[in-house]
Amino acid sequence: MTVELISVGTEILLGNIVNTNAAFLAEECAGLGLSCYYQSVVGDNEERLCAAIETALGRSDILILGGGLGPTQDDLTKECAAKVLGKELQMDPHSKERIEVYFQKRGLTLTENNWKQAMVPEGAIVIDNDNGTAPGLILEKGEQAVLLLPGPPNELKPMFLNKMVPYLRKKQPTVIFSEMVKICGVGESIAETMIRDLIDAQTNPTIATYAKTSEVHIRVTAKADSKKEAKALVEPMVKELKKRFVNHIYTCDENVTLEQALVDMLKKEGLTISTAESCTGGMVASRLIGVPGVSETYKSGLITYSNKAKRRLLGVKSNTLKEFGAVSEQVAKQMAKGVAKLTGADVTIATTGIAGPDGGSEEKPVGLVYVAVYVKGQTMVRKFQFDGNREKIRQVSTAQALIFARKCILGSNI
Ligand code: ATP
Repeated sequence: MTVELISVGTEILLGNIVNTNAAFLAEECAGLGLSCYYQSVVGDNEERLCAAIETALGRSDILILGGGLGPTQDDLTKECAAKVLGKELQMDPHSKERIEVYFQKRGLTLTENNWKQAMVPEGAIVIDNDNGTAPGLILEKGEQAVLLLPGPPNELKPMFLNKMVPYLRKKQPTVIFSEMVKICGVGESIAETMIRDLIDAQTNPTIATYAKTSEVHIRVTAKADSKKEAKALVEPMVKELKKRFVNHIYTCDENVTLEQALVDMLKKEGLTISTAESCTGGMVASRLIGVPGVSETYKSGLITYSNKAKRRLLGVKSNTLKEFGAVSEQVAKQMAKGVAKLTGADVTIATTGIAGPDGGSEEKPVGLVYVAVYVKGQTMVRKFQFDGNREKIRQVSTAQALIFARKCILGSNI
């Protein structure tokens, strides 16, 4: 079954906002086993939007439209979809009541144009919006379906996952089952080379790789008549991936992040952790603290940006700073040891590097980063040379610091 995405909004066309909704929907549809051959962006223009919907219906089974369901004059998605499908708009009393309650609860004043959001094409399946006022809609035309979602990602994502995915699953004649294998510490091209033969030979299940910051995610998806059969097709492939990537796989659970996996590992081993950061300025701490329940394991985080802070708070030696510089293996190690001594944590992570754009030299170019990890008395350090701008260098440093910490904990016989 084919799916086509249309993102509606002049803001997207002009590049004022990044089309993250399309990326999200495309990935989710791939996970459902739907084939997506076309995606487009259309501005808030009736003629062009109607033409885009017509074209899409001429070549795809399912059409997903995101955005343009708002209360204003330039929100035209619903009107255009209804026009192309030859349906009249009519007031949906249930949506009207929900909008009323939404405004009442928040003490907001309703204006006349808000009722526009309660108008739905005749025969539409109305999907309640739990995070906003514009309901989602499903319009059916024979075997084809047009799905309309509100633009704000905090409304679109939960509505799609909770309400539209079950609809799409039912529509599919076959059952789709997929598993996500998440890998760290192996670059995308190496990872692809390692499974080239599997990719080349893929039929059912299919294998799709996604490059993330310092991670590679591999989705294995199978289609079959029942979930049991689909699972039976996926499992041997996941087993094969486990054999090839061994400890580089940090989870096979779609919802688990790298930091979550690290926190789970620390908790399992009964270890506590602290951080001392220079170039990452708290980003390592922030990712760890983003994990619910981290308080059991996370102790303290210091941002020691200046040499003075490194000396005073972490006990980094003046001589070491003078002889090797703040961005050096020696200083990274002393930072990791220093924060372990200060906080009594079993594991510590320290980062020091040159994020740029200034501050680089021939000997120490921008992107040079050292990560040191202390695990129960042992300190290990890794040198990295990253490229990109300041933001990218800091993000990759953060991800690599978490990956290196995971590796050191795995490698130490705890
Ligand atoms: P609203 O009720 O807010 O008017 P809407 O369905 O009309 O919802 P839009 O007006 O198209 O949606 O978009 C509202 C906001 O949602 C945009 O300003 C933008 O912040 C976000 N948004 C819209 N489309 C996208 C997209 N494709 N990717 C990411 N964000 C988006």
